Amino acid sequence: MASEYQVKQYLAYWFLLGKKIVIRNGSATLLPQPVFSGERYSREFEECWQLIAAPDAGDCYLDGTSETISQLLSPAWELILCARCQLPIPLPIRGLPPGACPCFNLISWPNTELPLPRVPVNNQAQLRNISERLRFSEHKQS
Ligand SMILES: [Zn+2]
Repeated sequence: MASEYQVKQYLAYWFLLGKKIVIRNGSATLLPQPVFSGERYSREFEECWQLIAAPDAGDCYLDGTSETISQLLSPAWELILCARCQLPIPLPIRGLPPGACPCFNLISWPNTELPLPRVPVNNQAQLRNISERLRFSEHKQS
């Protein structure tokens, strides 16, 4: 299961490369700009996340993928790094991997001359994420 923290990071990476999010079962797309404001997600990004997380959001998925954001937040999926471009992509915990990384139709990507898009490190959020994961693995063992 990917945490909300990881899914936001997944979206942030792909937004930085210009990938949009498809919302409301395909009826609209969003690309919040800027993605970051200093060390935090921008207001535009947070507003986009609120739309995705809203109960009436319908299916929302990154353009070029078919895994919905709510699937990624479910225990059946996790996020791994694409072997080709090193950015996060969904992987089902059981079964076959999905058809494609969103990089499949980015002509300019991967580009070894450019640094990977990076997200600002927020120590507070990082610590929260680690403690969430610890709690989660304790649950699994009991
Ligand atoms: Zn890739």
